[in-house]
Amino acid sequence: MTETTGTHHVTAIGGDPTRNATFYVETLGLRLVKRTVNHDDTHTFHLCFGDGAGTPGTSMTFFPWTDDGRPGEFGAGQTRHTAFAVPEGSLDYWADRLDEHDVDAERVDLFGSERLRFADPDGIGLELVPTDAERPGTTWDDSPVPAAHQILGFAGVTLALDGLGATTEVLAAIGYERVAEDEVDGTTVTRYDTDADGVGTWVDLVETDAPRGRMGIGTVHHIAFRVEDEAEQRAMRETLADVGLDPTDPIDRKYFTAIYAREPGGVLFEFSTMGPGFDADEPVESLGERLTLPEWLEDERAEIEAALPPFEAPAPAPAGANGGD
Ligand code: ZN
Repeated sequence: MTETTGTHHVTAIGGDPTRNATFYVETLGLRLVKRTVNHDDTHTFHLCFGDGAGTPGTSMTFFPWTDDGRPGEFGAGQTRHTAFAVPEGSLDYWADRLDEHDVDAERVDLFGSERLRFADPDGIGLELVPTDAERPGTTWDDSPVPAAHQILGFAGVTLALDGLGATTEVLAAIGYERVAEDEVDGTTVTRYDTDADGVGTWVDLVETDAPRGRMGIGTVHHIAFRVEDEAEQRAMRETLADVGLDPTDPIDRKYFTAIYAREPGGVLFEFSTMGPGFDADEPVESLGERLTLPEWLEDERAEIEAALPPFEAPAPAPAGANGGD
């Protein structure tokens, strides 16, 4: 039996890639740390946004299907909110910032503190949750958000399920313990935590009457949990099999190795190694500036580039030492 320490990354389906990147970089101040393609569908970009170095535990990644793609439908078996951690005391800054960028955010009280809840341009539910936990990686010098307020990484994820039972057994097996319960807008929220240090350690569960959701634009595709290395990943495969799941073999995702298993509530779980990291094929200084392809797709670069939709990467406008806006 092995345990995870928390969220590695979250991958969602977006619409237009330029709009997607503009929001995560210009509004949320994350860095575009990787510009590649979906290895399983090379006509689609895979854009990854994270901290200054793309540290595991900080990166939200997207398959932007363009606006012609199929819209998703929220429902049971899906991620309701993806929460980012921000430094304690930053919430007013973020409320003003979201307002200036015409993002409607509501303040929500949960587990004894206030958070901001809003959606990205494709309708993906997001939250900013203040924490005094340490930053797992590095700030980004060119971010439009001053370093003092920059997103630290994930805080956690909220999963919506048509019943909690079977999912809680899986969470318990992979290292999550039920620690608290609260209520917001008449919905009970049950908190599971890995008890690890740092951020991204919790998973909240809520029950929904909605039918099973449909994956598409505006929905989360999967959530990935951290495993240290491939040995721990092998142990995790056994842990998953022991609770009745059917994990895939390890898949080389170039920047980490991944296994996948759908938990009984319908959410696709991934378990990813901490390395080799986003700097495996380009220097940290220029992460995300060019289209990178794994060796096995490099021969097809010309065809792949020609088939990708138009994409204009946002130009960084650093907040600078004085704090900018
Ligand atoms: Zn993934």
